[in-house]
Amino acid sequence: MSTAIGTERKRLGVRLLTPEGAVFDDLAYMVIAPSVRGEVGILPRHTPFIAFLRVGETRLKLLDDTEIVFATSEGYVSVEEDRVLVLVEQAERADQIDAARARTALERAEALLAEAGDDDVARVAAESARRRAENRLNVVDR
Ligand code: ATP
Repeated sequence: MSTAIGTERKRLGVRLLTPEGAVFDDLAYMVIAPSVRGEVGILPRHTPFIAFLRVGETRLKLLDDTEIVFATSEGYVSVEEDRVLVLVEQAERADQIDAARARTALERAEALLAEAGDDDVARVAAESARRRAENRLNVVDR
């Protein structure tokens, strides 16, 4: 049980929050998040930073070398003093995604898109629903 000073792995305190509450609140050693400018990898001692997130895959590498993968919606990530905050509208763990539901949502979104015509509001909403559903299908554990 001895841990030599200096060999302990550096860590991040990570909170992944949605309006419904904390989806993850624990230590990790790396966060990989889909920023609008491309994927960002955050390790301890990262400089203070903020970025907007697109719909995509957020991965947390834990201290035991396992990885948790989430389908995440738009939001943002901030980093300060080894604390990472990921704030998104929706987040689902890969192993908790209901693939059948996502496929139904994708079909519904495509039908709504086909019907949207010149209705920009309907088109944007359907495109957004399609992006969320496609993302869940990309991320879900198979
Ligand atoms: P849907 O059209 O299937 O409802 P959506 O993107 O519109 O998809 P919401 O209804 O806004 O989703 O989501 C309500 C809650 O259900 C959120 O907490 C979201 O994370 C979760 N959720 C949505 N789709 C899935 C899914 N396929 N598997 C697991 N959780 C989901």
